[in-house]
Amino acid sequence: MSVPFPVAAGRYESFRERVWSLARLVVRGGDCPFRDEIDLQAHWFGGEFGRVFTGTEGERIEIVQFGHWNRGAGPDFTEVALRIDGELRRGALEIDIDVRHWEKHGHVTNPDFNEVVLHVFTDQPALNRFFTRTADHRHVPQLLLPQFTGLEGRPDFLPEAFPGRCVAPLSRMSDGEVDSLLVAAAQYRLRRKSDRLRVMIDSTSDEQAMFQALAEALGFRQNKTAMAVLAQRCPVKMLLTMDKPEREARLFGAAGFLDHREGGDPTPEDSRAYLGKLWDHWWKMRDSVETSPRRAITWRYDGNRPLNHPQRRVGALAGLVDQWEQLRPLWEENVNNLEKEVNNLLKRLHHPFWEYHYTLRSAPSKTALRLVGKDRLRDILGNVIFPGAMRLEPDYWSEYAALGGVDSNQKLRRAALRLFGIDTQRQKLFTRYYHQQQGLLQIYEDFCLEDASDCRNCPFPEQLSQWRSLAPPPGELAVAHNV
Ligand code: SF4
Repeated sequence: MSVPFPVAAGRYESFRERVWSLARLVVRGGDCPFRDEIDLQAHWFGGEFGRVFTGTEGERIEIVQFGHWNRGAGPDFTEVALRIDGELRRGALEIDIDVRHWEKHGHVTNPDFNEVVLHVFTDQPALNRFFTRTADHRHVPQLLLPQFTGLEGRPDFLPEAFPGRCVAPLSRMSDGEVDSLLVAAAQYRLRRKSDRLRVMIDSTSDEQAMFQALAEALGFRQNKTAMAVLAQRCPVKMLLTMDKPEREARLFGAAGFLDHREGGDPTPEDSRAYLGKLWDHWWKMRDSVETSPRRAITWRYDGNRPLNHPQRRVGALAGLVDQWEQLRPLWEENVNNLEKEVNNLLKRLHHPFWEYHYTLRSAPSKTALRLVGKDRLRDILGNVIFPGAMRLEPDYWSEYAALGGVDSNQKLRRAALRLFGIDTQRQKLFTRYYHQQQGLLQIYEDFCLEDASDCRNCPFPEQLSQWRSLAPPPGELAVAHNV
């Protein structure tokens, strides 16, 4: 019998808190987890930090309107509305990685920044307080954000993979006990994903939050932020008012892929024809959409499979918008078999150009190329569709628990090696299903990525024996499958 969602999530949460309450404090130095300011701004604008905060002076700050993401010079966001201790203020908002960038970037003497009503940052000097002031000597309220959104989880940096100290205690646990731990960690992770969507929905709308989440899933890890920024700069509500060619021009233009200088002139005839069609629309909207080079979306091309080139990801996103009316019920209604429904919908995703091209300028492939591959499809289901649907209907858990796993990736392999050592039988047994993989990743992120002592000070192994005391009663055993 499968434990209902999110009952086991609470067990894992208590276990996690208990383990960490016994841990020694580790002081972390290190780099800011956000790749750059655009990355941080995308998390902010997507509403992932929430909208109610406490400022550096203890004031209550409530974001009423996130405003407009500035495409040119001046503060990052304009036409922002917020309440500080109940008083409504309108103006601009600046987001920096470090509070000192206000001066370093010259905002302190730039009158364009006189309208700023809030300075947001994620880092500040350890010893000195740094105040924000404008060229007309006005003090600007400050907001120090946490270094990760809390919904996204902690930053992903990978330690060397080697079997960890918890291999031995885990090997003494029965398969059922290990499975119940993975189920609980998976439910906890799923609940956080649902919560993240909920916060994004509260800050934007159902439709826009799901659109951004789908774009992120298409971007995979490397271009997740870039796709989120694109989704924010091309809101789905606006895209739906356009016809297909105009919509694609908007998406590819905003992505920065229609710059003539990029990649030179295409030689294949069909690429020239497709680009020509995009340009027929792009030139009319270009002035109002194109950003300054400083605010251009940063795409990562390194290490991508050819099929996952960012331009194909944008092609797939355009395809999803074409099917938006069919997609919408997936998170608005009770759908009988979500996996089947999503599979059928995404199988219908066709694009005459992107089914045969790797990039806008590449020669056509002889065979058709899938717009959304098997693992992407699984991640769309697991990271977006199920968390979205389960906000309203927790009963989807047993369907979610039956989803097959994705092909092993580097992170999953490391997690399995650290927790199960070289016991390949157990590695396989506990990575067959998507939820098991997710549970494993959650434990890996919660403990392995938090450990800075080569396992020595990690509290997880000693506390594993306590898992039984938190485990469900026999009648409600959390084994989702026969293991
Ligand atoms: S860091 Fe902790 S959880 Fe990770 S392998 Fe080492 S002992 Fe296990």
